[in-house]
Amino acid sequence: METSTWQPCIICGKPIAYGARYYLCSVSSCNKKRRTYRFCSPDCWDAHLPDMNHRSAECVEEVAPGRG
Ligand SMILES: [Zn+2]
Ligand SMILES: [Zn+2]
Repeated sequence: METSTWQPCIICGKPIAYGARYYLCSVSSCNKKRRTYRFCSPDCWDAHLPDMNHRSAECVEEVAPGRG
């Protein structure tokens, strides 16, 4: 079976599949066009917080685009 990876998780590198749920950081500097931080789970988003020294950030749930 072919795995349909859309993007890897920026923290653990696990694939985020097309149409799967993933998470974004609510801080705008983490959502730049050329460098968007995408997380496979809230745990990975949590691990990103100390790295970035965010004062207040939220985990935003999104759904990856469908294939084709
Ligand atoms: Zn992850
Ligand atoms: Zn962030």
